[in-house]
Amino acid sequence: MTESAAYHFCPRCAHALVRRLNAGRERSLCPDCGWVHWDNPLPVLAALVEYEGKILLARNAAWAERIFALITGFMERGETPEEGLARELKEETNLDLQQSSLIGVYEFQRKNEVIIAYHVEATGTVQLSEELVDYRLVAPERLRPWRMGTGLAMADWMRARNLPVEFIDLPARIELHDPKAD
Ligand SMILES: [Zn+2]
Repeated sequence: MTESAAYHFCPRCAHALVRRLNAGRERSLCPDCGWVHWDNPLPVLAALVEYEGKILLARNAAWAERIFALITGFMERGETPEEGLARELKEETNLDLQQSSLIGVYEFQRKNEVIIAYHVEATGTVQLSEELVDYRLVAPERLRPWRMGTGLAMADWMRARNLPVEFIDLPARIELHDPKAD
């Protein structure tokens, strides 16, 4: 378990934080005003986008590898997961969400995130945002999931459709969702 967050000063009163045992584990907290950095995982929305009978996978401009993955993003305050999915889908691909159904919830402890993965049916004309450099439309039976995060969601969606699941191996530390998380 890594302490991902680099808070050195209290965001409420600007006092230097200290490491102290609190509610069962060592946490950063403010000895002056009592603010505690709980460092809870952030929820990330992931969309396995079905478009014209195929699955749309996109390649992020920030990824070194030529890897295509799901559309992802963080929820904004005041929106439901479905609204967040529709917004991210529109921003990143210009597509319109017609229907969504939950695939499952997946841990991603390395980035202190929880992935909420949906199957999304989308219509419209694909136009990628600047964050994405390329996309592919892949027939569902030709998808090759990876053994972590959004790849596990892809595999579960395939199993539910009785599609054979054949995993690919990715470099150990590659990130397959939103670099904005960093
Ligand atoms: Zn404080």
